[in-house]
This record gives sequence, structure tokens and C-alpha cells, in this order.
Amino acid sequence: MSIVVEEIKSKLNIVDLIGEYVRLQKAGASWKACCPFHNEKTPSFSVSEDKQVWHCFGCGKGGDAFGFIMEIEGLEFREALESLAQKTGVEVPEYTKGDAAQKKERNKIWDILDLSTKFYKKQLWEGEGKKDSLKYLKERGLSEETIGEFDLGYAPKGWRNLLDFLTSRGFEKEEISKSGVLVEKKGDGGNVESYYDRFRERIVFPIKDVTGKTIGYSARVAPGGDESQAKYVNTPETEAYHKSIALYGIDKAKMDIKKEDWVLLVEGNMDVIAAWQAGIKNTIAISGTAMTPEQLNIIKRYTKNIKMFFDMDEAGQKAAKRSAEIAFEKEMNVSIVEIENGKDAADAVRDDMDNFLKAVDEASSAMEYFIEKLLSEYDKNKIEDKKKIIEELSGLVNSFSSKVEKEHWIRKISEKLDISESTLFDAFNSFQDKFQRVSREEPQIDYNRADEFLQNREDSVELQIMGFLISDDNVWKEAAKKYQKEIEDSFSNKKVVDIIIKKGKESDFNFEKLINKIEDENQKKYLRKIYFENIEKGEQFSTTEDKLKAVEVDFTEIRKRKKKNRIRELFEKMTVLAQEGGSNEEIEKVRKELLDLSEDK
Ligand SMILES: [Zn+2]
Repeated sequence: MSIVVEEIKSKLNIVDLIGEYVRLQKAGASWKACCPFHNEKTPSFSVSEDKQVWHCFGCGKGGDAFGFIMEIEGLEFREALESLAQKTGVEVPEYTKGDAAQKKERNKIWDILDLSTKFYKKQLWEGEGKKDSLKYLKERGLSEETIGEFDLGYAPKGWRNLLDFLTSRGFEKEEISKSGVLVEKKGDGGNVESYYDRFRERIVFPIKDVTGKTIGYSARVAPGGDESQAKYVNTPETEAYHKSIALYGIDKAKMDIKKEDWVLLVEGNMDVIAAWQAGIKNTIAISGTAMTPEQLNIIKRYTKNIKMFFDMDEAGQKAAKRSAEIAFEKEMNVSIVEIENGKDAADAVRDDMDNFLKAVDEASSAMEYFIEKLLSEYDKNKIEDKKKIIEELSGLVNSFSSKVEKEHWIRKISEKLDISESTLFDAFNSFQDKFQRVSREEPQIDYNRADEFLQNREDSVELQIMGFLISDDNVWKEAAKKYQKEIEDSFSNKKVVDIIIKKGKESDFNFEKLINKIEDENQKKYLRKIYFENIEKGEQFSTTEDKLKAVEVDFTEIRKRKKKNRIRELFEKMTVLAQEGGSNEEIEKVRKELLDLSEDK
């Protein structure tokens, strides 16, 4: 298997791979970004193109291409292997029997969803949905290409269309039910008596994850369908579908979001599709009323800039405000797109595309938007209204993580309302406690303690040497040979000796192999950290020889220090001998060593 892994790695560039998920920026020989795995303000996520590895100095996670895919897509190693094999066109050997059974189990839900999407699609283009539903979508301005691109489908009238189709394909009802496309009918005892199709006579919008896999559906009443039912029915929470992290359109939009460095956030699936067709490919929708912190974490992988286009009704405005608050907490920038007479994005695109594009282009800062809106709703000359405005703005102002931004807006509000800044500060602070903050978890690793590696101050040069060596295979190999005896004899930190010499040999002086040999997570994290620091340090040297020269300087430093210590020891010994009347022989021996030490350079 390791040959396959190596082959895949040789065909991949980790910078391109990670670049599909995260905005990377060149910093010296490596690339930096805000970490996709924890909340942070300054980038501590580092990728080395040279070494094809990544590391986050904030949360300590790191690894190779496989590790990244496993972490970001939540895959098992085998799944990551398959996904990357497919990407690079490398063939993976067949499974053994046990593996196959396991994989089948895990993938069943995806297979069911994939087949269901195909089923619904066929019904729209060739089946019952062709007449009214396809016509309806076209009338709403969608082209055939767009309808196909988003895999829109139609769930026919009746209770067992999909159920029968899937069971005919060999799936058990219980399995199908796990994917959310069926409804369980329970008897008096609470046992499941039967199942039936969840979506009936509806236009079906498949919801996909970042990688483009169907995770669930949002289904709208079809024209001529039962209008007394809910307009939209969605997949319930399942193993595959989690409403709080689902983002409609993210699979198609992610690369454009990264490229454009902003995202258009709209309310409905139709809005996403219409905007996409109008050329704004970086559009997504949330499946719910307001953004969740988890959804923002996903968006933040690609950009920090959000343009929101929410309905002008009360619910839409409330959702926009709440979403902006969470975004401010995460130090993201929010602006608001406004269209006259309160159309939704889908209608706005259909009615006047140029006007829509212009409105998106001219989106105004969210804070300014909300302030102006409140000023138009209330009379700022009335004291009661003034208080209301402050209360309404408190959630937004208090959500800024950045003090600079908070102060900036307090100054603005102070001018608009004609209240002193200090009074406003106090007023907003009084709302602070009432304001439910979303807890931000920032994992902290105390690298200064350097775990068990750093035993005393003397070790620091030794650690420095270790870090430098493990960051370059050639330098490590050469130095381990050249300095083996010196390291073994004079290094005081035995863990460092073990890594450089013994573990080095065992892992062919290769860092990734070394990491695979180490079980302790803290040790791994620490080694990764110094590895990355030293890759950056190593950039100032162009050749292995230059690096070896730098290593020699460190060793000279160690020798000097040892010598100094020895001289001090000898002087102390001499003093003791003189005071306590040591033999001449003893005194001569110390004197000779001192002389020798001062003679060599
Ligand atoms: Zn991190």
C-alpha cells in the first residue's frame, strides 16, 4: 500500500490540493493561511511546497496530503486514499474481504443518496415532472443547462415510487430510511410498521457537501401539487445531513469564492441557482434562518468577505442581523445588498439582471446599513427612540472581536446620535452581559514548555540542532554520520540524541517517516512545530553544504560552552585542592588539563 501512497503523493502538489479548500498566501518558501481547523485571527497555518507537508502553529495539527484530506473532509484513511487516487489517476489494489464489507456499510448511505438524485432527475426530464415542473423551472428563467448543472429533480405523486425503485436495486428499507428520503410510519407500540416516500409531488433540490456529494434534499411543492402542504420539505438530520453545517451551492461555489475573495449569501436555493446563472458563481444559501458558527467556519476557509442578500421582511432582516453578529465575532466583513421593492434574488435576476449585478456590486457595509435603517425607523431626537436604537445596535457592536472596529463604529454612532463616545461605551457594555456570545474555542498549546523535550536551559542549543537537522533529509543524514560520536558523548538531552541518531537511522532520516514512528501526540506536535520553524529558517541557505556549515557553527557553540563549563569546574577543583591540601600529583593533573584546554583553539 505504501507504494500507492508514494505514487499518489508524487503526482500531487499539496499547495494545489490545500488551495482548493483554503486561501493560501505565499510567505517566503512556504504558504500561509488562517487555519481551517480552529478559529484564529492571524494565519498560523503553514504549508511547505518543498516538503509537501502542512502544520498549524495554533492548534498543532499537521501532516501530509492524506492527513489534510482526512481532517478537512472527515474521512478515514482508506477513503482519503481512494479520493486522492481518483484525483491523481492512480489505481488502488482491491480490498480484502473484511475491508470491502466495512466500506460497503459506510458508503451505503452515499450510494442511496446518489441513486435517489438520479431517480428524481430522470423523473423531471423524462417522467411525470416533465410536463409541469420542468416547464415551471424554465418559466422562472432557468436554462436547461442550469437545471442540469444543479441536478434538480422531481419526486412523483404517490407513496412508494422511490421506495420501490431503491428496494428493486437491492437496498433494505431500514438502510434507505437512514438517508432521510423515507418517512417511518410507527404503530401504537412505537415500532416502525412501514415506510413511505418523504418527498411527493415536489421539485427536488439536492443539497451537497463541499466535495459535491449529495447529503440531503430540499423539496418544493410542484405546480399543481398539494398547496395545503408545507411549501418546502427538507431532509431531517441524518448521518449525512446536518442542517447547521449545510450550505446550498458550496460545492460549485467554493473555488469562485476563493478566487473572487467574497461570497454572496442568499436565502433560498432558487436564489443561488439564479445568481449562478447570472454569472455570480460564488453564491451560496444557508439551510435555515440564520448563519451558524459552523457554517461560517466553512465559509472562512475560502474568504472573510460576505455580501448578504436577505429578504426585506422582518424575518429576513432579523436573520441578516444575527448572521452579521456571528460573522463579526469571527472577524469577517459583512456588507448588505439592497434591491428596491423587496424582491428576492431569483426574481431580481429574472426581472432586471443588470440592476441585480449593480446592486451586488454596490453592497454597503452592514454596520452602516443597520444604523441607517434604525435612524429611518426611529426618531433620534426622542430620548426613548434613542435608547431603542442603542439597544438594537448593541448586539452588533458587542460582537466585534476587533477593538479597533468596535471603537470605529462607536465613534460613528456617537456622531449620528449626538451622544458622547464614553456614554455609548457604557451603554453598550451594559448590554454585553445579556448578549449571548458564541463560545470560541481556541485550542492552546504551550509550546514554551516544549513538552518533555526541554529538560533544562542547556538543552536549547541541542533542540535547535535537532530541529535544523530533521527539517532537511540530506543535512540530517550527513550530520548524524559526522557528529554521531560527539552527539552521543556530549549532548545532555538523551531524547534529542535518540531522535537524531537512532530514530533517524530507523526512518532513513526522513521527517514524515520519523513522525509515523512516534506515538505520543504531544511529541509529534512539538516535532512538527520545530520542523516548520526550521524549514523557514533553512530558506536562507541555498545548498546542503551551507546548511552543514550552519550546523558546524552550532556545534562550535556547544563545544565552547562545554569547555567554559569544564574550565570553571577545574578552577573550582583547584581551589578546593589548594584549600584542603591536595597532593601535588592531583594538582598537577588539573593544571595540565587547564593548560591543554586554554591551548586548543
Ligand atoms: Zn489550527
